[in-house]
Amino acid sequence: SIPVVAIVGRPNVGKSHLFNRIIGEATAIVSDEAGTTRDRHFGRAEWAGHDFWLVDTGGLVEDSNLPMDVAIRRQVMEAIEEADLMLFVCDARVGVHPSDARIMDLLRNSQKPWLLVANKVDNPESADYFEFYRLGVTEVYPVSASNGKGSGDLLDAVVGAI
Ligand code: GDP
Ligand code: MG
Repeated sequence: SIPVVAIVGRPNVGKSHLFNRIIGEATAIVSDEAGTTRDRHFGRAEWAGHDFWLVDTGGLVEDSNLPMDVAIRRQVMEAIEEADLMLFVCDARVGVHPSDARIMDLLRNSQKPWLLVANKVDNPESADYFEFYRLGVTEVYPVSASNGKGSGDLLDAVVGAI
């Protein structure tokens, strides 16, 4: 069966932009307003001869009991259960956010493979993303969902991991 890759992370880190970048067409609803992507979105992607399903998810707010946040959290947990690989997207402009460590615990508990993606590295010379190595991962993938920089290296890693 075709592997499933789920994009997860806090609201507004650029998950939906990355989804669109990878799929190469506007199949997800993208909004500038944080937390508006409530439904999961699926797309079929192909890279270097490898097919996979890509899943966009809503923004994870780990410490909220608001009904919408709880509903999104449940959907994200389902997406993780169905996924073979997760792309954990962080915002290099914000840097390491307290919620990032909590989301990472959740991913580690899933016992599934995941890659840490530092998005919004629009200028590849920027060193903004180095601080994500503090989270103890062996590799950080800097990308710009906006201009596409780094997405080829990320996709090489994705198809290498599925
Ligand atoms: P999501 O909530 O994680 O799905 O994030 P979105 O994809 O909706 O993007 C949130 C905001 O970040 C939007 O205002 C985007 O324009 C912006 N954004 C997304 N990717 C990038 C990027 O690579 N670079 C920059 N500078 N902004 C980005
Ligand atoms: Mg979104």
